[in-house]
Amino acid sequence: MTASTGLLTIDLNAIVANWRYLRAYVATAEVCAVIKADAYGLGAEPVGRALYGAGCRRFFFATLPEAVDARRYLPADAHCYVLGVVPAGQESLLQVHALTPVLSSMADVRQWRVWRAKAAGAPQCVVKFDSGMTRMGLDESELDELAQTAGGFEALGVECVMSHLACADEPGHPMNEQQQQRFAHVCERLRVSHPRLQFSLANSSGIFLGERYHYDRVRPGAALYGYAPDPEQANPMRAVVSLTLPLLQLRKLSRRAHVGYGATRSLDEGRVLAVVAGGYADGLHRLLGPAGVAMCGGVKVPVVGRVSMDTTLFDVSEVPGIDQWLGKPLSEVPLSFVVLGPELGLSEITQRNGALGYEVLTSLGSGRYRRRYLEVGDD
Ligand SMILES: *Cc1c(COP(=O)(O)O)cnc(C)c1O
Repeated sequence: MTASTGLLTIDLNAIVANWRYLRAYVATAEVCAVIKADAYGLGAEPVGRALYGAGCRRFFFATLPEAVDARRYLPADAHCYVLGVVPAGQESLLQVHALTPVLSSMADVRQWRVWRAKAAGAPQCVVKFDSGMTRMGLDESELDELAQTAGGFEALGVECVMSHLACADEPGHPMNEQQQQRFAHVCERLRVSHPRLQFSLANSSGIFLGERYHYDRVRPGAALYGYAPDPEQANPMRAVVSLTLPLLQLRKLSRRAHVGYGATRSLDEGRVLAVVAGGYADGLHRLLGPAGVAMCGGVKVPVVGRVSMDTTLFDVSEVPGIDQWLGKPLSEVPLSFVVLGPELGLSEITQRNGALGYEVLTSLGSGRYRRRYLEVGDD
């Protein structure tokens, strides 16, 4: 192993398999794909292309620039949604690139109404209802007022009303039921007055709360990328990402010594320490906390001391036959460090260090890794 940066492998087959799994699971609802934040750090373009190839036609982005960029790689029949606020004056970009905004406040609604009255081609929008998360969305009275204004929804071109669950990954949480009921209540009334309107509530974990949560469209992100929708249950999603870090140096301690910045840990004489490429500048502090481990030579080896900016230290004393590699040129040492992969999944990592799987994935996106995509069909 002579490369000096880590290798991030992203299995597009697994992403497609996960999307198909969800499609079979929900049966009647349309399965969209949330590929915001560069597909959670994995690459919106390759992920978007692969999912489009599999039949996905609705894609969600967080920001306007993310969605504008998507038109480079997604064909015209792919619907692209902008979840975040579109700054006043930039609505024409929505029209030029055929993007659909998600209106999340009365200010958004007013801005959109004024702009749309002058726009050609009657672009559509989604309205977000706040069913209890209290982050973004119209409350029930605002939504009612809008729906009851004659031609209110038509003037805005509302094609879908959506909401977002706050606690879907805790299936027993009472919030889920509350939010579902509020949303159901709103749907019942709107369906009568607007029979063609579509509804959408569930993110990844919401899908697994039951059919009542599915409505017309579901919006998974994390599950596509292998994240367990219910942390208490066996994970039905296929693993998507693996990260392998190269060895920079092996050393055997000739005396008891403090290790790393802050001298937070010490190791006994005779222990073997590996200096590995990759540190917090590569997002690894989210992945490797004080209880972090890597798979090396068939065993789990622990992190020692603090993760540095560019390097991390592991105690490799327990790797079988480790002594034979001491003093050898790196090119002859066949050791690598898998910090995320089939034998060390996102769930185990998040249990070890308390970070969210979302944080782990998105933080890897900024890392100085070589990327390898396993293309669809390479299975
Ligand atoms: C991010 C996001 C999703 C996807 O959530 P996951 O938990 O990753 O499946 C769905 N809907 C909205 C509104 C979001 O912001």
